[in-house]
Amino acid sequence: MFHKILIANRGEIAVRIIRCCRELGIKSVAIYSEADRDAMHTRLADEAVCVGPAPANLSYLNIPSVMAAAEVTHAEAIHPGYGFLAENADFADIVIESGYTWIGPTPQSMRDMGDKVTAKALMQQAGVPLIPGSDGAVSSVEEANAVAERCGYPIIIKAAAGGGGRGMKVVYQQASLTNAFLMAQSEAAAAFGNDTVYIEKYLEAPRHIEVQVLGDHHGNIVHLFERECSIQRNNQKVMEEAPSPFCSDATRQKLYQAAIAAAKSVDYRSAGTIEFLMNADQSFYFIEMNTRIQVEHPVTEWITGVDLIEWQIRVAAGERLAFKQSNLKRKGHAIECRINAEHPFKFTPAPGTIELFHAPGGRSVRIDAAIYSGYTIPPFYDSMIGKVITHARTREKCLRRMQRAIEELVVSGLTTNQELHRRLLANPALQAGDFNIHFLEEWLEQLPED
Ligand code: ADP
Repeated sequence: MFHKILIANRGEIAVRIIRCCRELGIKSVAIYSEADRDAMHTRLADEAVCVGPAPANLSYLNIPSVMAAAEVTHAEAIHPGYGFLAENADFADIVIESGYTWIGPTPQSMRDMGDKVTAKALMQQAGVPLIPGSDGAVSSVEEANAVAERCGYPIIIKAAAGGGGRGMKVVYQQASLTNAFLMAQSEAAAAFGNDTVYIEKYLEAPRHIEVQVLGDHHGNIVHLFERECSIQRNNQKVMEEAPSPFCSDATRQKLYQAAIAAAKSVDYRSAGTIEFLMNADQSFYFIEMNTRIQVEHPVTEWITGVDLIEWQIRVAAGERLAFKQSNLKRKGHAIECRINAEHPFKFTPAPGTIELFHAPGGRSVRIDAAIYSGYTIPPFYDSMIGKVITHARTREKCLRRMQRAIEELVVSGLTTNQELHRRLLANPALQAGDFNIHFLEEWLEQLPED
């Protein structure tokens, strides 16, 4: 096992990894920007190294700086968390070539899944269901027209190198296609440095359901059931739960099989997530694989009892998974609410100083956060400041527990989305599990102006 790990991240995920290291008897090294001197991860780690000024491209994304921090602290391995450099295969290569262990999948798996056109071709070979669409990249308006005619409108144009819900265009009729296609290409070039786009049929009211997988270096791969992540805004998840309140058991088995086939086809050797869209008739399609730990991993940890960060570290160190698929059992229900420093309904960022932070407690409530009373949230990074996760035997009880946890939570001195969660949790459709990926946006439109 490693003696020291460098965590190339900040915020709640850096804190989560530091805590795990401590439990495993591993020393932790935090990196921080000049804006994060007082951040929780900087304070909590055994050592902390400043890697540059506030803007992420000068610090958390500054590869030479991060590597220098690993060298001066004699770290043996690097955990990238999520976001920042987590899905950067070139960074993973540099880490490995410099003699450190990369706590994540192989750079090859990252590349295969990171380019969505490549990923879809691999999934097709593996027999994983795909949304009808173009056969690979689409490079001209004529080709786009032909694909759209074949699939029928609406269609969605997506960037091969896209991520984070960016670089997508929905087209409802032929008249808009030319413009949308050319814009999608130039936006993809500007945002991702790669103008490759592809086309899919646009599913009108799907649910977002994803499967957690975990593999080791000895050919073992398991799934850890599904998460329902349909409560989104601008393709950003707001609330997640496990299991999905919608999937039938028969669909679940097919979903897990598809996820395992997807992971095996890229020889996956870490924690990863296969994302699917699911229609009302429970037909489902692969959309992408995230080759990293995800924000919503705690709901899976709670229903399975498996510490996913611990197993990322263990398999990176060469250990075998200590459990087989048949040992994994689902227990109860878990829900996560993301707490963001932003306007609860307009979603504009609202960084500021936290006067008072009071975390809810009691039975089966978990808080993964990176805040404390008196902490000033810097304006340079993601607005998510923490997560509240609850668990209970049934979904109904779990929702009740989350309601009381959100009532108890105090983050004063600045604006958070706590009120959004309070109202969402009281919504009858949400309580009934009756929603799709448009639910949150449609519901927000109906809310009175004030
Ligand atoms: P990203 O990597 O940017 O997150 P994804 O391919 O995972 O891109 O898609 C993000 C979200 O966009 C999905 O969760 C879904 O809400 C929507 N989406 C993507 N493809 C389709 C599609 N073919 N039909 C309907 N919605 C889609």
